[in-house]
Amino acid sequence: MQAALDIANAGHRVILVEKLPSIGGRMAQLSETFPTLDCSQCILTPRTVEVGSHPNIELLAYSEVVAAEKSEQGTYRVRIRRFASYVDWDICTGCGFCQEKCPQKRIPAEFQRNIGPRKAIYTLSPQAVPNKPVIDRENCTYFQKGKCRLCEKVCPVGAIDYEQQDRFIEREVGAIILATGYDLYPLENLAEYGGGKVPDVIDALAFERLLSASGPTAGKIQRPSDGKEPKEVVFLQCAGSREPERHLPHCSKVCCMYSAKQAILYHHRVHDGQPYIFYIDIRSPGKRYDEFIQRAMEDESVIYLRGKVSRVFRQNDHVVVMGADTLSGEQVRIDADLVVVALGLMPRPETRQLAEMLDVAVDSLGWLTEADGDLRPVETRQEGIFIAGAAVGPADIPETVAQASAAAAKVLQHFAGAI
Ligand SMILES: Cc1cc2nc3c(=O)[nH]c(=O)nc-3n(C[C@H](O)[C@H](O)[C@H](O)COP(=O)(O)OP(=O)(O)OC[C@H]3O[C@@H](n4cnc5c(N)ncnc54)[C@H](O)[C@@H]3O)c2cc1C
Ligand code: SF4
Ligand code: SF4
Repeated sequence: MQAALDIANAGHRVILVEKLPSIGGRMAQLSETFPTLDCSQCILTPRTVEVGSHPNIELLAYSEVVAAEKSEQGTYRVRIRRFASYVDWDICTGCGFCQEKCPQKRIPAEFQRNIGPRKAIYTLSPQAVPNKPVIDRENCTYFQKGKCRLCEKVCPVGAIDYEQQDRFIEREVGAIILATGYDLYPLENLAEYGGGKVPDVIDALAFERLLSASGPTAGKIQRPSDGKEPKEVVFLQCAGSREPERHLPHCSKVCCMYSAKQAILYHHRVHDGQPYIFYIDIRSPGKRYDEFIQRAMEDESVIYLRGKVSRVFRQNDHVVVMGADTLSGEQVRIDADLVVVALGLMPRPETRQLAEMLDVAVDSLGWLTEADGDLRPVETRQEGIFIAGAAVGPADIPETVAQASAAAAKVLQHFAGAI
């Protein structure tokens, strides 16, 4: 979004392709941001709205690039699939009546990390840009059983279109920026933390949704199994990161900071609650980051335990966390109410396919590769193709935004014939 705005504001036309029904990326899922504790949605919304209404930006949400071909002049002919939403977005007003009336109400919402429900016709969030719904065919009563069509009946402008098909469009572009972001390492791969099967062991993005006013509990901290307010919460850092033999080799860079943030925010919501953080060591080299960690330790009553957790299992009403405190040399057992796993960041699998399509290099894990990690960090070896954000490697928001502006500057230089 940042790169699109910078280039569009310089007077060039931009096409922004987003796979999901609305823009904003992971930041739209976050509650508040470290180290300022700004409300993520509040600082994001002006940007999403600006992208959505910018005269130089063609926003293609619910779309993906399926083919790209380089011409002799160095431009790219790009083929884009527009997924069928079964709603005519040109006439839909975003009134939401269809969502209200849809009888399918218990579908796990991916945007809420499956801890809250959504309808079969849905938008990702109330602030979605574009604010237009899509029908999830697999869970729609009409598509599966041939009966319902309630959304069609209540739509005041006749926007529902069950016959809609995926469409393909083509565009010719002078430059491409890849900014496809990250996924979390699967909890299923971490048997010692219950492999995703222990109730009330959730990943950190799910906890962001619990903290969010627009989340499934409207910002109230309730554990998923029974809605109880958790009084002892354990955060596990480096889950899957820095373990080259078994999991990811790298440090995921943001987990120390977001765990401290989550522990602080938890303590703000549940004053008599106790947050614990298990860590290997703390990595907080960003501007005002170390001060933030000190605040968590000294002012916010977060108990930091240095060591790795060997086992997490369910016992009666609790999630038991067994670990070692390597500073005191003691074994630790905490009978927690909720465990939040700070899963490492990994590249999205589709980024590799996109990179192959464009002949852009990725490393063995699938992170996009810079032309030169020191001096050309947002360029690739392909002329006219640039990279930014957490698709290049773990990155926080300020770093992502800086890279995006850098990539935009490179595109403008490219258009000026300077590179
Ligand atoms: C639990 C947690 C808490 C965090 N808290 C903070 C914080 O407080 N402060 C902070 O600075 N950072 C925080 N971060 C890090 C932050 O999420 C990232 O820095 C940021 O999201 C990176 O932005 P991005 O645009 O590179 O990637 P993303 O946010 O992943 O966005 C990528 C976008 O590209 C889309 N996309 C992917 N593939 C395709 C494709 N093939 N075609 C079309 N579209 C595609 C995706 O749908 C998505 O919308 C946190 C991370 C986690 C996990
Ligand atoms: S037709 Fe499908 S999307 Fe529409 S109201 Fe019925 S179940 Fe919901
Ligand atoms: S009822 Fe119709 S106009 Fe309103 S959000 Fe749904 S599809 Fe759009």
